Amino acid sequence: MRTFTIVQYPHPILRKVAAPVAMFDQRLASIARRMIATMYQNKGVGLAGPQVNLSERIFVFDASEKRDQPQVVVNPEILHLEGKHVGDEGCLSIPDVRVTVERAAEVWLKAQDAAGKFFEIRESGLEAAVLQHEMDHLNGVLILDYLPVGVDLALAKERPSRLAAR
Ligand code: ZN
Repeated sequence: MRTFTIVQYPHPILRKVAAPVAMFDQRLASIARRMIATMYQNKGVGLAGPQVNLSERIFVFDASEKRDQPQVVVNPEILHLEGKHVGDEGCLSIPDVRVTVERAAEVWLKAQDAAGKFFEIRESGLEAAVLQHEMDHLNGVLILDYLPVGVDLALAKERPSRLAAR
């Protein structure tokens, strides 16, 4: 399958608020499949529309150990956030950068699948962080925005991490 080229920071599309998906057609199904293939090819745990140059509210993720449970999330809306979790995150669009990000420990989303069917998803731990990271992408927010004031990109590149990029 033909994969996408991942858009790299500071490409301006990464800062745009993505538009809701309106058409649940063959094009969208094909985009979803290609995004999943692109995510696996780049060893990411998540990938959002703007990262493949599509300013649309779609992302894919798979935080499973065997990497065999890809999920497609379209037009997500946060229903509930709870708790606090701090972890190091990377991003496929910002290579070699790791940022410590504080997020909710649990997240509950409402979304549509690639066929337009509504579903709810509740995650905690790594999956919850991935969901919030991808939601951020749809709103033009990047992990760089969580850097403490005074810490620049060069310093962030030296930070070690155990987590995969997304
Ligand atoms: Zn990212």
